[in-house]
Amino acid sequence: MKEIILVKYGEMALKGLNKKSFEDMLTKNIKRRLKSLGSFCYTSAQSTLYIDPQLDENGNIADLSEVAERVGRIFGIAAYCRACVCEKDFSDISAKAADYLSDTLSMARTFKVNAKRSDKAFPMKSPDICRELGAVLLEKFPDLSVDVNDPEVTVTVEVRDTNAYVHAENLKGAGGLPVGSSGKAMLLLSGGIDSPVAGWMIAKRGVQISAIHYVSPPYTSDRARLKVEQLCERLTDWCGGIAFFCVPFTKIQEAIRDNCPEEYFTIIMRRLMMEIAQRIAAKEGCLALVTGESLGQVASQTMAAMACTDAACRVPVFRPCIGMDKTEIIDIARKIDTFETSILPYEDCCTVFTPKHPKVRPKLENIEAAQAAFDFEPLIREAVDGTEMKLFTPGYKAESSF
Ligand code: ATP
Ligand code: MG
Repeated sequence: MKEIILVKYGEMALKGLNKKSFEDMLTKNIKRRLKSLGSFCYTSAQSTLYIDPQLDENGNIADLSEVAERVGRIFGIAAYCRACVCEKDFSDISAKAADYLSDTLSMARTFKVNAKRSDKAFPMKSPDICRELGAVLLEKFPDLSVDVNDPEVTVTVEVRDTNAYVHAENLKGAGGLPVGSSGKAMLLLSGGIDSPVAGWMIAKRGVQISAIHYVSPPYTSDRARLKVEQLCERLTDWCGGIAFFCVPFTKIQEAIRDNCPEEYFTIIMRRLMMEIAQRIAAKEGCLALVTGESLGQVASQTMAAMACTDAACRVPVFRPCIGMDKTEIIDIARKIDTFETSILPYEDCCTVFTPKHPKVRPKLENIEAAQAAFDFEPLIREAVDGTEMKLFTPGYKAESSF
């Protein structure tokens, strides 16, 4: 029995004049994400995209479970389902519906049929299809009964231009907007739990992310960097390709340690991270920075501390986790498969030279004065020049020799 995947566009279906460009971007993202699984024919009509697997030159066809799994991680999709392809003929539709949905229907107690007829030349009207297919299914599955208000299973028949399609429940899609439709932003990606979640949340709103990570060898190990690369790799399933920038940060941290008051170490370090991030962001066409901060989580994440950090920024800083509890962040981290990597115990440069008594309510003028005591500019330039870039694309496997 031939199957296809139906994809229902998400909230962009509402976007008036922009609708076409959003749909084009989503289709392009889907094609890119499925390319390695086989060849497909794509058609779109009425806020639905039809993904029809084709035989490739070797006579192979894509595995639909794998296709469905990937589709479930593409932003901009509200719902999707696997559907059986039928001739536009009622006897074929009813025979295939009974066969294709037999597992689902034999386990259910109640059902209803929902018909959509976009081909008005089809001889039966939607209510006729519902009534007659309902009767066929009741006969084949005697334990079933019809419940039009709250059925366990809704059997949907769609009669379209070339074929009819039968399917049961829709699966919930990843939601949001197609990646790329909201521009680009630079994610400050640490090895922790929060920043990968922040990247996922901002990508969900249509942002293509690049990632920046600061390393301080020998205080931080190579394995800590590999862990962050693995997080990038996990994120590509959702966010598409990610340009990953690795910044040598040792000299800056040592300069802070040697020249600034200990209680301001963390805030000054964060301001310098932001400075470097926005210089690289500007070169990459990123319009904002993104961090995994959550209000009150640690001393550098109080409002006063974040105000001091933001004072060093010339572009908006997005903090999608700001109002979330750790448990809520962890729930998302598990769902997006970053949690297990994030909890691997490798040090981050943030944990190097941490002050014993960080200021929870730092004053900007004191921070600025402390930072001005040393000329960081040459070191900032050196760090930007020494930054290495690596491109992660979906399906790329990072080294995982932890
Ligand atoms: P996370 O769990 O994301 O590491 P955290 O709770 O450990 O966050 P901090 O260590 O204070 O918090 O870091 C706050 C934010 O700063 C992180 O969410 C991340 O966006 C950024 N950040 C911290 N360390 C680094 C790093 N080494 N490289 C890049 N960004 C970093
Ligand atoms: Mg951290």
